[in-house]
Amino acid sequence: MVENFKEMVLNRINIDEVTSLLRKWVSIPSRNPPGEERDLALAIAEQLRSWGFEVELYEALPNRPNVIAYLRGEIGKPRLIFNGHIDTVPEGDVSSWTYNPFEGVIVGNRLYGRGAGDQKGGLVAFTVAAKAIKEANVKLKGDLVLTYAAGEETNEPGTKSILIDKGVKGDWGIVTEPTSLKIATAENGLAWFEVLIKGKAAHASRPEVGINAISKAAKFIKEIETYNEDIKRRTHKLIGYSKCSVTVIQGGLKENIIPDLCRIVIDRRVIPGETIENCTLEIKEILDRIKSSDPEFNYDLKLMKFSESAEIPVDSEIYKVLARSLKEVGVEPEPWGTPYTCDVRNFINDAKIPAVTFGPGNIENCHCIDEWVDLNEVLTASKALALTALNLLT
Ligand SMILES: [Zn+2]
Repeated sequence: MVENFKEMVLNRINIDEVTSLLRKWVSIPSRNPPGEERDLALAIAEQLRSWGFEVELYEALPNRPNVIAYLRGEIGKPRLIFNGHIDTVPEGDVSSWTYNPFEGVIVGNRLYGRGAGDQKGGLVAFTVAAKAIKEANVKLKGDLVLTYAAGEETNEPGTKSILIDKGVKGDWGIVTEPTSLKIATAENGLAWFEVLIKGKAAHASRPEVGINAISKAAKFIKEIETYNEDIKRRTHKLIGYSKCSVTVIQGGLKENIIPDLCRIVIDRRVIPGETIENCTLEIKEILDRIKSSDPEFNYDLKLMKFSESAEIPVDSEIYKVLARSLKEVGVEPEPWGTPYTCDVRNFINDAKIPAVTFGPGNIENCHCIDEWVDLNEVLTASKALALTALNLLT
């Protein structure tokens, strides 16, 4: 009986449907910044309503709606949440694109456009999966919840607000960021630090009466490079090793003035097992060590932005069921850890819902000129997601 349902559902998921919906959604710009998700959110809501889904719009930030849709099961539990973000990074210089970034041009199996891979392909995959289940009239026991979040690209609280403020509950989550169909159970974390090194201005003909903030900063940069070598020894089997890089330096006013200020920004990649708090302490220790041997070394340290890493065990039920479903559609499952940060941490860390990241598209061409997604990958993802929902909810 169940196998029968599966066939009925899979037969309804086809390349034409996936392609036309993706073209439509790529053609609606949803750039963030500036945060113009509204048009796409309304289009998604209207589309889902036209198919008979129960839909609500939820604004955590004014004029930046998230969309939440429900396919209700008979007893409402357990619950599976599909999640994706509707915002994209801006397209950049349009004249550098081979194809219009908002037309959804198709060449061979590829659909080109801003957001095709990150991550409108993922949105389409789970949307078409849910539609097929609905149209096949499969009686689900639990609910399938579709969440379309605003504000992911700028770390604004789309998914977090859906799960925490709005209180959407679930037993498992699947975040459909581009993973090239690998199943990620771990996610790298990130911290950005600003360090202001303070000196004392003087005429460059008398450097001995000033304190050169750039020279002081050089000491710190050297220490960060040593630190980066040290933390390479901390490794995670799916993500790789910890990293720390100086990514911005600003300082100096004029050719003949000893600079009194130098600003440095540090990008710290935080593997599961490390905490933002510890990383902050380690940076502070380096600064204090320099200061203890150089009383003229003065600094301010600020944590500008961070995302904690996140992880669930590879033998979690959601991993195993998705892996089995992927196998059923002919793809050998491969565990992975995402080098990037995404909203899966809101499921795992904030809402305590076991979740994986899985979707069509290759992160290597996302955020780039001529972003694209392989339409067959979107189709395969859609089928695997449909089977996962059936395997978990019937
Ligand atoms: Zn993304």
